[in-house]
Amino acid sequence: MHRGRAVLNRFALPAGEAVALDRLEAFLNRAAPYGADRDRPDIDATSGLSEHLALGEISPRTLWAIADLRAEADPRQAPGIAKFLSEVIWREFAWHLLIDYPAMPRAAWRADWQDFPWQGASGALTRWERGQTGIALVDAGLREMRVTGRMHNRVRMVVASWLTKHLLTDWRLGLAHFDDSLTDWDPAANAMNWQWVAGCGPDAAPYFRIFNPAKQAEQVDPQGRYRRRWLAGYSGDPGPEALAYLDSCPPGWAIPAHWRGDGADKAIADGRARALDALERFRAAA
Ligand SMILES: Cc1cc2nc3c(=O)[nH]c(=O)nc-3n(C[C@H](O)[C@H](O)[C@H](O)COP(=O)(O)OP(=O)(O)OC[C@H]3O[C@@H](n4cnc5c(N)ncnc54)[C@H](O)[C@@H]3O)c2cc1C
Repeated sequence: MHRGRAVLNRFALPAGEAVALDRLEAFLNRAAPYGADRDRPDIDATSGLSEHLALGEISPRTLWAIADLRAEADPRQAPGIAKFLSEVIWREFAWHLLIDYPAMPRAAWRADWQDFPWQGASGALTRWERGQTGIALVDAGLREMRVTGRMHNRVRMVVASWLTKHLLTDWRLGLAHFDDSLTDWDPAANAMNWQWVAGCGPDAAPYFRIFNPAKQAEQVDPQGRYRRRWLAGYSGDPGPEALAYLDSCPPGWAIPAHWRGDGADKAIADGRARALDALERFRAAA
């Protein structure tokens, strides 16, 4: 990581079982708005427990027992806690899938998708990995992951959709970048979610569901706080997170100090049309 290592250290979260239990406790005290706010990357609405779960610092059973008791004792927090537990079930579902289908990180779950003509490695993939696509929410998410090892769930969906739909790039290349980058990396959750977004997983998003990153940004980051936090030059003076990303990049990447999003609307519209065309042709030929 060279310079990146010192940057990562600044954003690393404390680890261990005691910290995981404290984090759960703190979350249960503020769980009420979870259902309404969990898709907002500009708000600290989710539990932040995925690293602890992925590393085995808290077990889902312990978490479940504590949260369940709290929901009974504190009716104000109960709806948020119920929604939170329904998300934890996705994690368990992913592990059940991986046990049944160990090839899930490598092969499409749905046999009819095995031959989809995905694009391989390319300059577009490299720009995506580096948070240089010119699409604000996509770049903000990838920069957040580079610096912290974390990325908000909704933003993960948007960056994965951009890679697999707008850029028609093989979901396994995106999955590999997440494998390398996430501190909450979980082989089951990562593979299930990549396949879901790409459209080839069980119960996957339909092929015509293509996230529009500009509309998503309006909905989930209405004041632009999240994008401002991660993109130097997006608006106003850059804050410490946006500068940390620049510090973490090797000079050879020549990342401009000011993020630019010229032509984003056209790229979004063209990519969507290209993806729909490719996906429809593939379905027609199947
Ligand atoms: C493309 C993509 C890749 C992902 N890769 C990973 C991964 O490698 N590791 C990982 O833990 N999660 C992964 N997720 C799921 C999700 O983004 C994270 O679990 C979540 O962002 C963690 O934040 P949190 O702990 O604050 O979540 P909360 O909203 O507080 O949710 C509580 C817990 O439920 C589980 N959970 C929530 N959503 C999901 C989901 N969609 N799938 C599986 N479990 C879920 C997690 O264990 C999480 O800690 C991925 C999602 C996408 C779209």
